Amino acid sequence: MVMNFICVGCNEKYPIESHKWKCECGGLLNFEYEKKSINFTKTSTSRNHSLWKYIDALPFEEEDVWQDITMGEGDTPLIKLHENLYAKAEYYMPTLSFKDRGVAVLIAMAKKLGIDRVVADSSGNAGSSIAAYGARAGIQCEIFVAESTSDKKIKQIEAHGAIIHKVPGSREDVANAAIAMVEDTNLFYASHIYNPLFWEGTKTYVYETYEQLDGQLPEAFIIPVGNGTLLLGAYIAFQELLENGQIDKMPKILAVQATNCAPIQKAFSDGKEVVDFVENTGTLAEGIAIAAPARGAEILKAVRATDGDIISISDDAIVTARKELALKGFYVEITSAVNYAAYLSFIEKYPELKDQKVVLPLCGAGIKSN
Ligand SMILES: *Cc1c(COP(=O)(O)O)cnc(C)c1O
Ligand SMILES: [Zn+2]
Repeated sequence: MVMNFICVGCNEKYPIESHKWKCECGGLLNFEYEKKSINFTKTSTSRNHSLWKYIDALPFEEEDVWQDITMGEGDTPLIKLHENLYAKAEYYMPTLSFKDRGVAVLIAMAKKLGIDRVVADSSGNAGSSIAAYGARAGIQCEIFVAESTSDKKIKQIEAHGAIIHKVPGSREDVANAAIAMVEDTNLFYASHIYNPLFWEGTKTYVYETYEQLDGQLPEAFIIPVGNGTLLLGAYIAFQELLENGQIDKMPKILAVQATNCAPIQKAFSDGKEVVDFVENTGTLAEGIAIAAPARGAEILKAVRATDGDIISISDDAIVTARKELALKGFYVEITSAVNYAAYLSFIEKYPELKDQKVVLPLCGAGIKSN
C-alpha cells in the first residue's frame, strides 16, 4: 500500500516512513493512500466489535499489527436521548474518551514503522490514550501537559508508565515544549493535531453512525471543537461516503466552542478564512480550550462546505447541561456537556432542527473531571 503525507500548502509529498510532522515549507500535512469503499452489509454483521471492522477503509491490512494493539475501541452505542436526538457514547472507550479512535490507528502505525519512543502533548485525554496504547505497543511515551490539567487525567497517564512533562503556562506553551523536544531529539511526534493518521481513526465515528442509522447519516452532527480532530475526521468520512455514492449530500456540521476560548467560532462569524488566535480567558471545558488551533483554516472550510454553523456556549450553560445529562443517566466530563448545551442552543436558533435527526457525541467520562 503506497501511503504519503501531502502538504496542504504546496502539495509536496513525503513517504510515511519519513516521520515528517510538517512540510519543509512549514505547511501542515494531510495523508493519502488508495482507499476502498466499505461494504456496510458485511460490516453490520461483523463479529469484530471495534472500529477495525472498517479495515477496508483504513491504512492497514486485514492481518497486521493493529491486531496486537487494539483494545476494542470504537463500535460505541448510539442511544436515543429524545425524539430525533441521538447520543453516541464515546466515553465507553478503553481510556474513556473518543481519542482512542485516533490513537489506536496512530500508535498501530508507529509500531508498524518500528518506532519505540514518541512525544505528544495534550490537554489530557489524548495524553492518557497515547500513554495506554503506547504501553500496549511497548512504545515509551513522553507526554506534555499543562500544569493545570485535571489530576485524574495526569494519574491515568502516569499509571501507564509514560513520562509526564508538566509545563507551566498556556496550552500553546505545552505544545511548544513538546515540539522543542521533537526537534532536539528527532523522536516521532505522535501528535493528534499534526499527524493526519489520527483522523483515519476518528472518521470511523461517522461510519458507525451510518451503519447504526441503517445506511443514512443524520441531518446534522453536533461536534465540539478544540483542535478539530473529531470534526476533521468526520468531514473525511463525509467526503468518502459521498464519493462512493453511499450518501448524496453531506450532513451539516454544527460545531461548538466554549465562549471564553472560541477562536474558530469568532473567525466563522466574522466571515474569515483563517483563525486569529485568542487568549483563553478561562473555561472549565479544558478539553476544548485551544486558543491557537493549528488546523483552524481547514476546520472553517469543512464547516462551510457542509453549510454548517459554529456557536459558543458559556461555562454556566455547560455546567447546567452536565447536570441535566447526569439526571438522564449519562455522567460525562464537563467538557463533554458542551455538546448537549449546544443542541439546546441550536434548536432555539434553528427550530426546524427539532424535526430532524441530530447526533451528538458524549466524548469523555464523568469521572475524568471534578
Ligand atoms: C479532545 C476532546 C474534545 C475536542 O476535540 P478536538 O480534537 O480538540 O477538537 C472534546 N471533548 C473531549 C472530552 C475531548 O477529550
Ligand atoms: Zn509544503
